[in-house]
Amino acid sequence: MKLPVYLDNHSTTRVDEKVVEEMLPWFSENFGNPSSKTHPYGWAADEAVKNARRKTAEALNADPSEIIFTGSTTEANNIVIQGLAAAYGTSKNHIITVSTEHPSVLDTVKALGRRGFEVTILEVDKTGMVSTDELSSAIKENTLLVTVMAANNEIGTIAPIKEISEICHSRNVLFHTDAAQAIGKMEFDVKELGPDFVSISGHKNHGPKGIGALYIKKRKPQLRLSPIIFGGGQEKDLRPGTLNVPLIAGLGKALEISSGGLQEKIDGMKFLRDFLYNSLTKELTGIHLNGHPVSRLPNNLNISIEGVSADLLMLECRDLAFSTGSACASDDPSHNYVLRACHTDEILFNKTIRIGLSRFTTREEIDFAAARITEAVKKIRTV
Ligand SMILES: *Cc1c(COP(=O)(O)O)cnc(C)c1O
Repeated sequence: MKLPVYLDNHSTTRVDEKVVEEMLPWFSENFGNPSSKTHPYGWAADEAVKNARRKTAEALNADPSEIIFTGSTTEANNIVIQGLAAAYGTSKNHIITVSTEHPSVLDTVKALGRRGFEVTILEVDKTGMVSTDELSSAIKENTLLVTVMAANNEIGTIAPIKEISEICHSRNVLFHTDAAQAIGKMEFDVKELGPDFVSISGHKNHGPKGIGALYIKKRKPQLRLSPIIFGGGQEKDLRPGTLNVPLIAGLGKALEISSGGLQEKIDGMKFLRDFLYNSLTKELTGIHLNGHPVSRLPNNLNISIEGVSADLLMLECRDLAFSTGSACASDDPSHNYVLRACHTDEILFNKTIRIGLSRFTTREEIDFAAARITEAVKKIRTV
């Protein structure tokens, strides 16, 4: 067992060895530019990108022509939100989102608000769930886009994506979902769920950092996104710049692996997550589960522990790597806007830890984590 035990998989994940293997040749022997049409170096690179695009599409049950590669999920979110605003903003200038979104969505929408867009930020309930009735009521004549994350990166709450798609489509509104945390942790079939745009990530799913993808639903007439970056026309003009072939190949491989036997992977993570939670609540009092009890990611455990500062707990558990909140959020726990949005008792903000398992997490690691946390909490509570 490698120490510290890595339990921070919402922040990033270990790159699968098979993904590394898949990437390596595209750095060295096969270093071509997929836009080079005149020689085998370019052709081979282009073939690799095509392969990865097919695997990415397969993971979502999409068509390869519906996928563009981006530099991150952050970038995918910006390309779709800013791109739609620029293309349609003069006729439709209202965007709806939710208070617990990732900053790459929330701050992009807020920036549009400062440029004159009308913005509605929906509240969530104590479990981090958005109300579809409230969402439906918020839609107006000039609503362009609804953007709601598939699964929350802090508390793991899974939104009713299919229902939201149906509401949006019945009202002629576009729907985007940030699925960075969802891919590899739940079934994600775009035909079944129905969103118009989906952002996904490499590094949250055992692929490399610095790569993401955006699914853009094919329809007639095709939706227009105005580019927010200008250049050589790659990725349908939406993400120009020479394609990063190794990372793209890695993303495709990561998705191919995570899609295979997905239910088994989900069950494995969920079993260990529940085992950890049950071990802690059996030994300790005053543990509050944050997020939704059922509609949540199988790998997420977010708890507040009465009377135990998360910083102290972390010091006592140096051989565990977990988080006291999102790596993207401020260091100041009072700024934990996701907990605040869920009306979590403020006294618990700095007593909250986020544990994220992966398909590589073992029973041995979870036994170890349960024992270490229990011991540390007991020690902190007695001094
Ligand atoms: C990590 C994360 C992002 C950002 O992904 P990057 O690829 O690091 O830009 C966006 N949304 C959610 C929900 C995330 O968890």
